Amino acid sequence: MTSLHVENLVCRYGLLTAIKGVSLSLQPGGVLCVIGANGAGKTTLMRALAGAHPAAEGHILLGGVDVTALSTYQRVRAGIAMSPEGRRLFAEMTVRENLIIAAENGRKGEWTLDRVLDAFPQLVPLIDKRAGGLSGGQRQAAAIGRALLANPDVLLLDEVSLGLSPVAVEGVYLSLAAIKAARAMTMVVVEQDLTRALGFADTILCMAEGRVELAGAPTEFTRAQITAAYFGIHEPEVADA
Ligand code: ATP
Repeated sequence: MTSLHVENLVCRYGLLTAIKGVSLSLQPGGVLCVIGANGAGKTTLMRALAGAHPAAEGHILLGGVDVTALSTYQRVRAGIAMSPEGRRLFAEMTVRENLIIAAENGRKGEWTLDRVLDAFPQLVPLIDKRAGGLSGGQRQAAAIGRALLANPDVLLLDEVSLGLSPVAVEGVYLSLAAIKAARAMTMVVVEQDLTRALGFADTILCMAEGRVELAGAPTEFTRAQITAAYFGIHEPEVADA
């Protein structure tokens, strides 16, 4: 298991600075849920962690080793794998083929095809079906399974419940809860469902306009504080009398 540290990360799209000095620290086996309104920078942060977006400034350390300069492929080898927003699977290939490719390109470890099918039993009857024909929840399960087959130390999951039915969300989170309970993997999860995020995370990190508005254990904050941070609302300063 591996810790993840991010120090003063800055990411840009041309002139737009999407991540403005984000730092975070996650102990081995910890689960961090990243929350925030649309455009807060959550996906950009995840892409930067995975090596899919360059860091303009700052550092990303995996188990104390600076991986900031590594490509996505090198980061998979180093132990970071992402299931991206949109769950990009190869639509014309079967679920099995999608998973096998990930296993062949990832690290060797305890996550095998059989173990993924144990964790996501909803994939068993779909294994030889075209990925393009799956429902949103099924695609999400397959995409997370694909990331697991890289045997990462740090698993990045972007927008877990986006576009899924409540039943599908429940199914995916049941599987994630079992992985969390095993404490075998450090997880960073972007979750738009606040109640779900607060229930699942050891720590939450709320972003607004590319900055960290609030970070800590969910129990440290009231719902009102979290909601205010979510929308980047600051209390007006009280002037001295
Ligand atoms: P959402 O929940 O809508 O996905 P988010 O919190 O994930 O939002 P990002 O997608 O990381 O936020 O976007 C952060 C900022 O970067 C936004 O201002 C967005 O418009 C901008 N942005 C994102 N992708 C690009 C891109 N490819 N080119 C230019 N700007 C981008």
